[in-house]
Amino acid sequence: MFQYANMLVESNTIAEINLSAFHHNVREVKTRLANAMMMAVVKTNAYGHGIVPIAQQAVKAGVDRLGVTSLEEGVILRQCGIPVPIHILPPITPSQAEDVVYYHLTATISSKAAAHAISEVAVQHGKVMAVHLKLNTGLQRFGVEPSDVLSFCRSCYQLEGLYWEGIYTHFSNADEGDWKTTNDQYDLFKDVVQILKANDFEFPIKHVGASTIALERKDLHLDMVRPGIALYGYHPDERQVNDIHLKRVMTLKTKVIHIRSLPPQSKVGYGGEYVTKKEERIGILPIGHGDGFKRLLSNNGFVLVEGKKSEIIGTISLDQTFVNLTDIPHVEEGAEAVIIGDQENQTITARDIATWINSNIDEVLASLMSRIKRVYVYREKG
Ligand SMILES: *Cc1c(COP(=O)(O)O)cnc(C)c1O
Repeated sequence: MFQYANMLVESNTIAEINLSAFHHNVREVKTRLANAMMMAVVKTNAYGHGIVPIAQQAVKAGVDRLGVTSLEEGVILRQCGIPVPIHILPPITPSQAEDVVYYHLTATISSKAAAHAISEVAVQHGKVMAVHLKLNTGLQRFGVEPSDVLSFCRSCYQLEGLYWEGIYTHFSNADEGDWKTTNDQYDLFKDVVQILKANDFEFPIKHVGASTIALERKDLHLDMVRPGIALYGYHPDERQVNDIHLKRVMTLKTKVIHIRSLPPQSKVGYGGEYVTKKEERIGILPIGHGDGFKRLLSNNGFVLVEGKKSEIIGTISLDQTFVNLTDIPHVEEGAEAVIIGDQENQTITARDIATWINSNIDEVLASLMSRIKRVYVYREKG
């Protein structure tokens, strides 16, 4: 796969990934877990941070396992020599069984067909594969229905070549602090686990929680917790900011590559969606929606230039963004523009961007395309 990001050239737009901040976050979250294991979720290219360096750092920081979003991500990590168990969080399809076994990945199972497929391949290769059963308790995305789970286990639990290591579910409303829904989902999970146990279907590793549960609900840590976003320095919800000190891992910055002065009433950009009110100085940044810098930020949001918030103006194009520099008269071409991060006393976070465009932090970070060069630093600060 061709990646601009690997080129050793002087890129104007870079995402600086602070691995020591990531390490800190893993350790901080880990101290909350008492005896529960930690699966660091590095799905979606580690929420846009780059899956391989992040996974390597996670292992160094002592995580027990990793969670990925696809067979491809699991294979990349195995090819890079990551030794810990790697869980593919969405259920696999039967056609993926061969690769799951070959690369020794831990599959999520929620269909009989997938259970049979892994069993068959495992037996062929003389292996026993650990698998985790996913239970749907209300997210309605993946998982065996509670009403079907006993019959599922009767037909699949004894399949040769499978070790039912775990059972899990995923909450739909935890980040919002909706504990009623979360507790109902958990009660359902607990009841199902109990019924299964009474029928001799045992699952040693039971897990239900992501970042929010790691931070707020010790009682739901069970045998393992699966934090994702918190490890990248973001509390899932602002109510948690005083509970734990997390450090932002990504700084996204670019440069003002061109500046022009325009008379009043000039229409700026495609469609002329911004019109200068007076004589104004306009800067152009080499980042656009082709980089994952969302078009919804058109005329909507800020970047930092010389420690000041400069408005994004006009329509964001594939590769460029306009900013208003009128109030920063001395700024010159080549000046740094911080999109996510600190500059002097100002900060813009992925949460701010998410708020402006009515999105969430995951989308803002994970949308950043691979053509933005990731630069990895290990630097203790903050
Ligand atoms: C994404 C995901 C997580 C991590 O969620 P965060 O809110 O980012 O901590 C955990 N478990 C599953 C199944 C997921 O899909």
